[in-house]
Amino acid sequence: MYNPALPIPTDQLKLQLGAMWIHGVLGNPIYELAVRSGLIKSIQDQPVHSLMACREDGRPIPFHIVQEVYDAYEQFMDRCVEYFLCKYEPPDGVRSVGEHIRLEVDLYLAGLPERERDVRRLLFEYLLKREAVIAGAHSMDEVDLLECGTYCDLPGGNILLPEGYSSILGPLRQGVPPETLLLGHPVSRVSWSARPDRVTVTCESGRRLSAEHVVCTVPLGVLKERSERLFEPPLPAARTAAIQRLGFGTANKIFLEYDRPFLPANVTELLLAWGPTDPSQPVAQRWQRKIYSFSKMSETLLLAWVVGEEAVHMETLPMDEVGRVCTEVLATFLDDPCVPRPKRTVCSGWKSQPYSRGSYSFIKTGSTQADIYTVGSPILAEDGKTPRLLFAGEHCHPSFYSTVHGAYLTGRSAVQQILSATAAADDGRPAAAADEPPTLHQPDEDATDLSAWLAGIDLT
Ligand SMILES: Cc1cc2nc3c(=O)[nH]c(=O)nc-3n(C[C@H](O)[C@H](O)[C@H](O)COP(=O)(O)OP(=O)(O)OC[C@H]3O[C@@H](n4cnc5c(N)ncnc54)[C@H](O)[C@@H]3O)c2cc1C
Repeated sequence: MYNPALPIPTDQLKLQLGAMWIHGVLGNPIYELAVRSGLIKSIQDQPVHSLMACREDGRPIPFHIVQEVYDAYEQFMDRCVEYFLCKYEPPDGVRSVGEHIRLEVDLYLAGLPERERDVRRLLFEYLLKREAVIAGAHSMDEVDLLECGTYCDLPGGNILLPEGYSSILGPLRQGVPPETLLLGHPVSRVSWSARPDRVTVTCESGRRLSAEHVVCTVPLGVLKERSERLFEPPLPAARTAAIQRLGFGTANKIFLEYDRPFLPANVTELLLAWGPTDPSQPVAQRWQRKIYSFSKMSETLLLAWVVGEEAVHMETLPMDEVGRVCTEVLATFLDDPCVPRPKRTVCSGWKSQPYSRGSYSFIKTGSTQADIYTVGSPILAEDGKTPRLLFAGEHCHPSFYSTVHGAYLTGRSAVQQILSATAAADDGRPAAAADEPPTLHQPDEDATDLSAWLAGIDLT
């Protein structure tokens, strides 16, 4: 887990440039581990969330309109999710979540008087930008409609670890002898079929290691960029095609630190209802229009998100320039030329990170959940049973992709497969088929509700 801490101290929380929230409580093994290890109080003080929505000319939008649009949008999203669960046929020519939502938005707005439509359309666009960050896609037009219901939200809301998400590595590392960990050795080559009983891993440093089983947990972005060079021989064509079909976007955070508070004390998030954006404008002139809100992390620390090609462009800018542009945006939406410049701006740059090449995965139009199974399945030894080269990471989980708990569960499953194969070999029994992981709670392909796999999650 590569997740640098924010070099800005805050009163109560350690913030990070990557994962910060445990998504969901019930059935979340990371939540269970964090509670058992004393990393979180079981009840968190959740600050009241209080929105202020403004248009580009600074006019505020009444809260009841924001609420109305949120409620409608939630129903539109629920309907998208049903396509996977109920196997509905989508309308002709509609392949993505973005296209489907816009169809629903048009129908919804058509039922309203003309003067009420514009502001609501801007708010729907705000929600689509926000959804794209959650998905990790450039826009919701990239997210497959029929497959979006594969993602499972665990109930219980989002939980922050006061010492930062990386504090979870403490209990995870417990029991692992430090001398068995080799850090700071990027892998340049994984040779998986030269010797039938071993996989050899070569590091950039020149160091070579050989093992009976290797679990590869490099992110999907790294696999997309260099799987052909990383693996010797290259991975089978079907797997390489699945790697390329799945989506892996770039979502970046922008933290703005101030000397003094300037947003109203009772507001926790300023929501930006941008007017229409001209997509033919160069991205350098319009990247900031992808920022959909500024949230208070504290009275003097704001967080904004940007995703897709705009996020990739932002990574090319000096952080002070990002801070200057954000100040212009804030001044415009607050209609206040006196908005202060941040004393420090810190942005993530996930696309530029050579060992990440983006942020998290999603099922892109044209790909399916089956691609996740393909990417996550082990390559077997000659006996057709023993897992030789295994894969884990968020991109390998069929319903918790894009999350830390998804990554954790696939890692655990890979180890269980190895242990099961080793135990079977020691007993002289035939190993369990390695492509049927013994305890990973893979959803029953035919199941149409969540209880089947939720019951399978081991909370201990
Ligand atoms: C901005 C942002 C916010 C997020 N917020 C959340 C959140 O709030 N909650 C949540 O659950 N998830 C969140 N996520 C997603 C979460 O961080 C990932 O799903 C999770 O970290 C994936 O774990 P992983 O082990 O698959 O990959 P990673 O955490 O990326 O780990 C892969 C590791 O492989 C290493 N590596 C890469 N190439 C090589 C190589 N050649 N040799 C050796 N090592 C290599 C990398 O350095 C890295 O340490 C967020 C992600 C981002 C980018």
